[in-house]
Amino acid sequence: MNADLGLIGLAAMGQNLALNFAQKGFRVCVYNRTPEQTRAFLEQAGGEPLCAAYTPEDLVRCLHPPRRLLLMVRAGAAVDEVLEQMVPLLAPGDVVMDGGNSHYAETERRIQALAAHGLFFLGVGISGGTAGARWGPSLMPGGPLEAYAAVEDMLLRIAAIGDAGPCCAYMGRGGAGHFVKMTHNGIEYAIMQGIAEAYDGMRAGLGIPPDAAAEVFERWNQGSLQAYLTELTARVLRHRDRETGEPLVERILDAAEQKGTGRWAAQSALELGIPAPTLTAAVIARTLSFYKADRERIAALLPWPERAPAAPPEEFLADLEDGLNLVVLAAFSQALWLLSEASRQYGYGTDRAEVLRVWRAGCIIRARWIPFLEEILREDPEDPHLLFHPRFLAQVRERLPGAVRALQWALEAGVPMPALSTALDYLQGMRRARLPANLIQAQRDAFGAHTYRRIDRPGVFHTEWSAQGG
Ligand code: NDP
Repeated sequence: MNADLGLIGLAAMGQNLALNFAQKGFRVCVYNRTPEQTRAFLEQAGGEPLCAAYTPEDLVRCLHPPRRLLLMVRAGAAVDEVLEQMVPLLAPGDVVMDGGNSHYAETERRIQALAAHGLFFLGVGISGGTAGARWGPSLMPGGPLEAYAAVEDMLLRIAAIGDAGPCCAYMGRGGAGHFVKMTHNGIEYAIMQGIAEAYDGMRAGLGIPPDAAAEVFERWNQGSLQAYLTELTARVLRHRDRETGEPLVERILDAAEQKGTGRWAAQSALELGIPAPTLTAAVIARTLSFYKADRERIAALLPWPERAPAAPPEEFLADLEDGLNLVVLAAFSQALWLLSEASRQYGYGTDRAEVLRVWRAGCIIRARWIPFLEEILREDPEDPHLLFHPRFLAQVRERLPGAVRALQWALEAGVPMPALSTALDYLQGMRRARLPANLIQAQRDAFGAHTYRRIDRPGVFHTEWSAQGG
């Protein structure tokens, strides 16, 4: 078979992508380290224009040049292992895409390593889970532009179609594709945490059961919070356990797991010097939740005095809705600032309006807010901040009072809302012309002679601080 694409890695994502490519008319040759998996997949996929290879050599023979390969193996060492096998078999001009959740720095390294052999390597962020992979994912390819040109037709054909075209665009040079995907996941963590906090508020403040909470999310899904994750949450809350008949969510252990992309986003923000507290808080909240036994012990040792009564249900729900909207807006604001800085420091050349366009459909964070944010970035592509834009600020302003009331209740009631509280802290910090960082600078100079700058004259100063002053 003169195949158009070699797809390596036939777990959930690889299988669904192979079917998607095949259905769009591409001849796909699949390969998996464990051959039984390949056989099982072919049997199940019968009829599609697919063929299989059982050795790397057969896979390469099956492809027409320039060869195009898509790796869908576990992120990390597996990618390097596959590359070690494949690189000696490929020829200059061939393109290898990594569709897994690889770290952008690893992608940069692999681009260089393959370039030394005349090969192209692209880091392709893919979002949308298994259903997205099958029916149309959001695609975030980055790397050498000429390599993107060689695969663009294929990627555009399998991508989700949004109301502004296929959800695939070139994200920039080097590891840009995987950086953008990592940032997407950072936003995903923050929104999921914000939703969980709103749910906690409904449960603890109003005592409403999952079914009724589902109704609230369904209603929110008709308004500004219309989003895949809002709709998914309502669906999840309605799902009943077959054995007990109870809402399944009630039976699930409250210890959230993570695979690392959210943590990388928080780490990158720290490394690049961009404040992204809401993205970070969502990662920490998952980490904290994992200490279930410790929490149970401390819960008995530190009971909260008295649960504050929530406002009347409709008012309280409106406050929670404002709060969740602010979490979403703060998360996007932080993430897009992070992307702007990454693009500047790493030389990606990322067009953030295009990033948002690609997130309009297919991906996990698709939401009604995205076209609005995209419009703002198209008007002011150079501004790192959404916070400079009056229309963005108008949306923030409208929701601040309700969000503050929701957080006030949470603090009094002993209900942790780290996404909401960091969203508000971020906005408060950014809207404060003068912060107490002057005192921090004085402290640093006093104990470590780190020097400081003054507001009334240029230069760098050091003072011999003493109890008496002077
Ligand atoms: P997994 O991450 O579970 O990876 C399993 C696949 O990797 C199998 O095909 C396995 O082969 C292969 N593999 C593992 N180690 C090696 C190795 N050393 N050499 C060769 N092959 C190896 O699969 P998923 O389909 O869930 O994800 C694939 C990639 O896509 C991951 O990077 C993931 O992070 C990313 N991703 C996943 C999403 C999801 O919703 N699941 C969404 C978006 C991205 P074998 O059968 O032989 O063990």
